[in-house]
Amino acid sequence: MVSERLFNGSLVWYWRRPIRSGAEYQQLTDLQALIGQFHLSEAPDTWTCSLSSNGNFSVSAIRKLLDTDNMGAWPTHWCKVVPPKVNFFLWRLRLDRLPDMCNLLDRGIDTSSLLCYSCRIQVEDINHVFFSCDVAEQVWSFIARWLDVNLPKWQCFEDMWQWVMLSSQNAAKVLITEVVCYASLWTLWRFRNGLIFNPGSFKKSHVIDTIVLYSFDWLSSRYKKANLNWNVWLQFPLMSLGICVCNEGYTLKLPSGFHGQSVRYPGVAAIDEFRRERMQEDAFYVYTALF
Ligand SMILES: [Zn+2]
Repeated sequence: MVSERLFNGSLVWYWRRPIRSGAEYQQLTDLQALIGQFHLSEAPDTWTCSLSSNGNFSVSAIRKLLDTDNMGAWPTHWCKVVPPKVNFFLWRLRLDRLPDMCNLLDRGIDTSSLLCYSCRIQVEDINHVFFSCDVAEQVWSFIARWLDVNLPKWQCFEDMWQWVMLSSQNAAKVLITEVVCYASLWTLWRFRNGLIFNPGSFKKSHVIDTIVLYSFDWLSSRYKKANLNWNVWLQFPLMSLGICVCNEGYTLKLPSGFHGQSVRYPGVAAIDEFRRERMQEDAFYVYTALF
């Protein structure tokens, strides 16, 4: 205990033998110089966290330290709305640590081919799987139509993440967009793994259904304020956190800046018809059966 060495504010040393000269003496001198900067009191020893102003330890303080000092341009980002295994997956994706063909080769693992299992044309690296393979492009094309937004062509995860974070002033819309994108990435990876390890287990025609279901399920079960409606989710996903359903149709609750105005939408049947017409042009349209 430090307090046992303290006498009238000064440290008292008890050595079993005299301090030798040379390195040992130098170490003692350095130590005294270091602790000489601190004011020691007679109070009991306590633990204190230098990362927070009140001295209490918190996980957020550690995370902030990791983000700012250690992670550089790759801050840790934990999305509470998606399951932990998906967060770990996203973290590995962001660091390019997923076992795609190129990464397996880099680690000395002999693979029969470097080609993507889906298109069989391009070499499979992380950006190909999630952004430039034909199945990925079809997924992002669908997501753009479903969310009713213009998605740029992303080259990598960072492109996507930056776009999502700046996609709206409305935090709820950003959260929904983020969760939908994460569900898309997770589903693309599961689809890719199905092709390699269990061919036929995950059909291409189920990819979109799975994304819609995953994102609905995660938001419904892990975001307490969500209270989502399935039909609204299918038709107006970005507005589904601000919509309530009534017999006459949907009432959209606008943000506070709109002074309590609301917008009436036509009834469910009319919206379904509008949606059906719009989606019939989509070659990748697979969730007609959901209506
Ligand atoms: Zn491919």
